[in-house]
Amino acid sequence: MKISEIFNQNKATLSFEVFPPKTSDTYKSVETQAMEIAGLKPDFMSVTYGAGGGTSEYTVSIADNIQKVHDVPTLAHLTCVSSKKEKVHKQLRLLGEHGIENIMALRGDRTDNDCEDYRYASELISDIKELCGDRFCIGGACYPECHPESESLEQDIRNLKYKVDAGCDFLTTQMFFDNNILYKYIYKLREEGITVPVVAGIMPVTNAKQISRICSLSGTYLPSKFKNIVDKFGADNDAMKQAGIAYATEQIVDLIANGVKHIHVYSMNKPDIAEKIQTNLSDIIGK
Ligand code: FAD
Repeated sequence: MKISEIFNQNKATLSFEVFPPKTSDTYKSVETQAMEIAGLKPDFMSVTYGAGGGTSEYTVSIADNIQKVHDVPTLAHLTCVSSKKEKVHKQLRLLGEHGIENIMALRGDRTDNDCEDYRYASELISDIKELCGDRFCIGGACYPECHPESESLEQDIRNLKYKVDAGCDFLTTQMFFDNNILYKYIYKLREEGITVPVVAGIMPVTNAKQISRICSLSGTYLPSKFKNIVDKFGADNDAMKQAGIAYATEQIVDLIANGVKHIHVYSMNKPDIAEKIQTNLSDIIGK
């Protein structure tokens, strides 16, 4: 099923993300985790694409299995900046053959080995549209706190408009820990004429090391309420996990109460975290 059709049902949705293994020897354990998460019957699941595309076949096989075994629609990620067009076209054929109807079309992070075939995600989206028409529902990434390469948020949003005009059906945000940042961002998107659904990407932070890594990578703002939680509970793994899940739940409840209907949880291949969040929201999202 296409994600655009799910969104057209006009109800709150909860979806989860998993990432494929880096090597074949961890494939089975990652697949088991992904299947456990799929067993929760979220509205859809996304499967990321390893940087550089070296594990692209794992993205397809995990997404395919989730759909076959649990009948949960999947969103397969696809990056382009380090790939030749032939590789991208092969992946599109493979996704089509496996009945995957949703693609998160991404540029990917730049490296020294980039090809010249695609410079931006918008070019990948145009290519998919030219090759496959409306066969796939296409998502794109967006950055409420600005993509690190952009000079300003305003410039980043103008660039985002090219991507949406190329054929994005919806946008999923980078993680954020302060909902007010998202509310202001959505307002700016609408002002710029970007009207597609915006899916809020929520990261439940369940250990203190994870948070310092995330923030040094993406420059995400940490509200003092969140910092206090990490300071107080960071040294106790179980307490930090419980507090991280509670914080993410509170964020989601506030988002839904303020009209942000679509929530994507970066569940990091952790079925127990996905399950706890879903249980916390059961009456709110009707699951
Ligand atoms: P783009 O939309 O191409 O934007 C990249 C930069 O170029 C931005 O600064 C933008 O403002 C600028 N830009 C865009 N168009 C133009 C233009 N026409 N002229 C000038 N500047 C322009 N990475 C992975 O490797 N695998 C994944 O599975 C993955 N999944 C992700 C999922 C989400 C929801 C998010 C938020 C990120 C994900 N990433 C993933 C990371 C992503 O690949 C990086 O953030 C990457 O640096 C940018 O990708 P993009 O698709 O947003 O790029």
